[in-house]
Amino acid sequence: MAGTLSRLDTRSTHTIMEDSNSDDLGSRLDTTEWTVESRADEDDSVSLDRILPAHADSDTDEASRGLFDDLLEGEPIFDSKEVLRPSYTPDQLPHREEQITNMATILVTALRGDTPSNILIYGKTGTGKTASAKFVSEELETTSEKFDVLCEVEYINCEVTDTQYRVLAQLANKFIEKNERIISDRLETARALRQRVDEEGPEAIRSSAYDTVQALSSRIDSLEEELADIDPVPMTGWPTDRVYSTFFDAVDYDARVVVIMLDEIDKLVEKSGDDTLYNLSRMNSELENSRVSIMGISNDLKFTDFLDPRVKSSLGEEEIVFPPYDATQLRDILQQRADVAFKPETLTDEVIPLCAAFAAQEHGDARRALDLLRTAGELAERDRTDLVEESDVRTAQDKIELDRVIEVVRTLPTQSKLVLFATILLEENGVHSINTGEVFNIYKRLCGEIDADVLTQRRVTDLISELDMLGIVNAVVVSKGRYGRTKEISLSVPVAETEAVLLSDSRLGDIEDVQPFVQARFEN
Ligand code: ADP
Ligand code: MG
Repeated sequence: MAGTLSRLDTRSTHTIMEDSNSDDLGSRLDTTEWTVESRADEDDSVSLDRILPAHADSDTDEASRGLFDDLLEGEPIFDSKEVLRPSYTPDQLPHREEQITNMATILVTALRGDTPSNILIYGKTGTGKTASAKFVSEELETTSEKFDVLCEVEYINCEVTDTQYRVLAQLANKFIEKNERIISDRLETARALRQRVDEEGPEAIRSSAYDTVQALSSRIDSLEEELADIDPVPMTGWPTDRVYSTFFDAVDYDARVVVIMLDEIDKLVEKSGDDTLYNLSRMNSELENSRVSIMGISNDLKFTDFLDPRVKSSLGEEEIVFPPYDATQLRDILQQRADVAFKPETLTDEVIPLCAAFAAQEHGDARRALDLLRTAGELAERDRTDLVEESDVRTAQDKIELDRVIEVVRTLPTQSKLVLFATILLEENGVHSINTGEVFNIYKRLCGEIDADVLTQRRVTDLISELDMLGIVNAVVVSKGRYGRTKEISLSVPVAETEAVLLSDSRLGDIEDVQPFVQARFEN
């Protein structure tokens, strides 16, 4: 029995260590924000259903009207909704001039054919890191076309590409593709020359780089061979050293300066350690023709704590911080996008300042600000008015916040869901100043009901703190005089919606009649 308990304990410690890690919480919140995006998209289809019956009532005589006619009718609010989506890269980034200039000052070295210092960019989500980095890299590539320096930026989103194998394979294949193009071009030129030789005779070779027709022919043969030998890296299956050396050879095939942009680099390190960064950062000492520089972008300010000191110092040669935007800055950002996204005079005066104020509270997140503005516009559009008003922004704020909560609750581990469910049951039954002991008692019974492992009260207390950090419950420590201290717990989220999400979990959904547990708490 003792053995079983300690195994349980170890497992639960593991869960909690992972979950109470603040970076993990941060990253979970980030993911949520992205999910909100897709939810908003899904909602477009929901609105169809909502509007259609109304249409049928008012326009029964016009049976020939198509499904979309009614929706298209009326003054549209948006000129281009795309402009408010995160995928859109604006060509101006107000209030990021300093960071952009800093990046450019470091990277301009590449245009001179030298290796730029590695750069580490920090800042919370929605502070414009990705947008600025992409902006700078586009400028760099365009300018390098005017110069004679081959300067390339490779962007990798490490949230998606999150293992060393995948990062190296993706990079290798990009360069293999580029090399293929280079070789094909050279081959084409050489073949054209041989054709001229065939037509005009051997004199045609004189003005070329080849001494003899023989040399030209063997060059063509070797280029053909090179092209045939090219072997892209499969997405799995090779030993990592082979992927690395393939990437190394592909980069070094030609003289070039390569900036590898690793966005969400903290996710890569969290998932797969720092081997990738170690390997990339030592490449320059062995490359003969090309140079590599790394630009890491992180949402987590402390992620370098987990790095090998050599990697840390190499990666952080230059550091650029993206501070949160304040409400005034967010207003400028929104205004600039709104001018393009909305039809003229569709926003009342309060809309942009209110979106900016809400997002400023949310750690100055421009993504949130844009989400709010777009959602407010969509809400107004659904009401088929031609004006977005303050109330639309407030409804949008509630909607986004609720979507966030639902997503966080949905992805909680089962144990946390049980703890949260216990709290909800108490609150629904009118229990005031809920304490940890009460939650624990109900929790134990819920566990029994679905055959889940029962954690210790200490662990449950930790899970409550985690729910507090996620903004789902509010737990305050109160002193009970000589009886010590306890936590008083209340819900910070709407009960009905949260309960519905919990019950949509197939395990919790099996709990049938919960009332007896709540009554039983008085017996404990
Ligand atoms: P991060 O990478 O720091 O999380 P992003 O660069 O993805 O943030 O920015 C989030 C959203 O806000 C994007 O839609 C981006 O275009 C927009 N944005 C951020 N900063 C600015 C700015 N200074 N000007 C205009 N748009 C911005
Ligand atoms: Mg980003």
